[in-house]
Amino acid sequence: MYLVLLGPPGAGKGSQAELITREFGYPHISTGDIFRAAVKQESVLGIKAKQYMEQGLLVPDDLTNAMVADRLGAEDARKNFLLDGFPRTLDQAAFLDDYLEKTGRSLSLVFDIEATDDIIVKRLSGRRVCSCCSAIYHLENMPPKINGCCNACSGTLIQRSDDQPETIKERIKVYRKQTEPLKSYYARKGILRELDGGKPVEEVYACLRQFLVAPGA
Ligand code: ADP
Ligand code: AMP
Repeated sequence: MYLVLLGPPGAGKGSQAELITREFGYPHISTGDIFRAAVKQESVLGIKAKQYMEQGLLVPDDLTNAMVADRLGAEDARKNFLLDGFPRTLDQAAFLDDYLEKTGRSLSLVFDIEATDDIIVKRLSGRRVCSCCSAIYHLENMPPKINGCCNACSGTLIQRSDDQPETIKERIKVYRKQTEPLKSYYARKGILRELDGGKPVEEVYACLRQFLVAPGA
């Protein structure tokens, strides 16, 4: 299966990706995670991406597309992949279609996980992530067993620097303007499946997995 998770920041893409990967073993490819790792390493890509990320803006398409092409060329992405946070512009979507066609693949399904702006703000303000394994928590909805400590690897939980009120507002604006049009792009192709991300994590996942076990549903 070649899957994409679409939806505003904080809708729960990463949380659903953790569950899909745990059950189905598809490699989880989060462009946000790849960029954050590059920023941490202070690589050329990281230095370029950082200025956009800290403002809540999208990293330019040419940089992002090249990075994704490189990742999708890896052996583990040949039979299955789960893209989280890519594509985010129509140019990226067209690039992905072209790239997959050239390598004999095409997208199977695109899950649009929706959430209102109010929910997004609450989710992102309370989000904490593991600095070692990137596991996702929430201070109220999904607290770790030990305060500040990852259940899975005991790593330290941190708040992402872009999960601050002003940056959150900008990221929502960017999503509505640049990414939301992808919904009709994929609806026209007949591969869009819409999910209510406002429901609890397990309920969202129960709906999503129906489409994976019975793709024609
Ligand atoms: P995204 O990858 O779309 O930015 P995340 O999966 O990181 O979103 O989730 C954002 C925050 O909301 C996290 O703190 C996560 O624990 C929490 N969260 C995710 N899905 C739900 C849900 N369905 N109900 C309540 N909280 C959720
Ligand atoms: P995320 O972890 O998906 O919330 O992404 C964090 C940040 O990384 C975004 O706000 C962007 O600055 C950048 N980013 C992630 N994915 C993309 C993408 N597909 N296109 C451009 N920028 C991206």
